[in-house]
Amino acid sequence: MPYYLFVDRDGTLLEEPPDTQQIDSYERFRLLAGVLSTLRWAVQMGYRLVMITNQDGLGTPAFPEERFWGPQRLLLDICESEGIRWTGIHIDRSRSDQPSPYRKPSPLLLLPYLEGSIDRQRSFVIGDRYTDMRLAERIGVRGLWLENPLHPLPQGWPASTDTYQRVANWAEIQRLLQERFFFTELHRTTTETQVHLQLAVYGQGEAQVCTGIGFLDHMFTLLAHHAGWTLTLQAQGDLEVDLHHTLEDVGIALGQALARLLEDKRGLARYGQSGVPPICRALPMDEALALVAVDLSGRGGLRWEVALSEAVGGASPTLWRHFFETLAREGRFTLHLWAQGLDSHHLLEAVFKGLGRALRQAFQRDYSQPKIPSTKGSL
Ligand SMILES: [Mg+2]
Repeated sequence: MPYYLFVDRDGTLLEEPPDTQQIDSYERFRLLAGVLSTLRWAVQMGYRLVMITNQDGLGTPAFPEERFWGPQRLLLDICESEGIRWTGIHIDRSRSDQPSPYRKPSPLLLLPYLEGSIDRQRSFVIGDRYTDMRLAERIGVRGLWLENPLHPLPQGWPASTDTYQRVANWAEIQRLLQERFFFTELHRTTTETQVHLQLAVYGQGEAQVCTGIGFLDHMFTLLAHHAGWTLTLQAQGDLEVDLHHTLEDVGIALGQALARLLEDKRGLARYGQSGVPPICRALPMDEALALVAVDLSGRGGLRWEVALSEAVGGASPTLWRHFFETLAREGRFTLHLWAQGLDSHHLLEAVFKGLGRALRQAFQRDYSQPKIPSTKGSL
């Protein structure tokens, strides 16, 4: 399914002159910082770009055609030179006191894109006016309101709602797009457990976890923090039997979520270790020390050398090993875990933190080199 960025022009791509609010000469042409790098990234990620702009009175003596098209062509030429091509460009020429049926927030100009299949989860409207945010609401995609002192939101409009949110600049826009792009949601129901998981791997390092196993909630919170994820995980399992099914099925769900988010491996770092080489390749936790290494290889497997001497959080050492084995198998990555220490609680804390650090490193992407990180050409 195609996914789109519907992007306003003045005040969003280009600085809007505060006096006339018209970009009608080369002297008034100024790109906003970060526009090109973010749009280039978006194109590399497969986004289709659509410009939708009001140009009040274009073609009238107040705004002659020739004064618009010079700067507009310059904008398109600069974009072209960066590999940024626009799928569509739509200009409404009406004035706000005499709006045409096509003027934003009307969605009429976007109907060709909306009538076909569209991935609304990944699509956005980006603009600097409340009319852009109303357009986002009308077409059912999320709005990113680029704050502009020239156009404060009307009285009573909060800065962020369920349908749009305020952003300060294009760097923040790219971060949010990336967070949403690598997001997945998973429901898993068996006779033994119900698991609901939402995961954004390029997130905020925050977690809301409720599995009924307090220690596991704590571990997943550590994991999400160190991995930089935004994670929501709820599980209801047959804890009256024991912890096995819940721990196993949470491992399956998280592994499957990671595998989904690894379907596109372009530019992926692939390897990760718990530390910052060459300074340190280990993660200490008081007297415990963990070494963690991952390879997002597409092949699931666990090497386990963790010196657990007793049950932790109610789960035996064998069950913890089974959990990580399940996670690596379902996530289709190679996982090496080694940890030594006296306190089994500390050992697992070190392992989960180290795993978070390692996955964070392995999930890094270089979008300027969007190649599959393997001499085989596929993973
Ligand atoms: Mg604007």
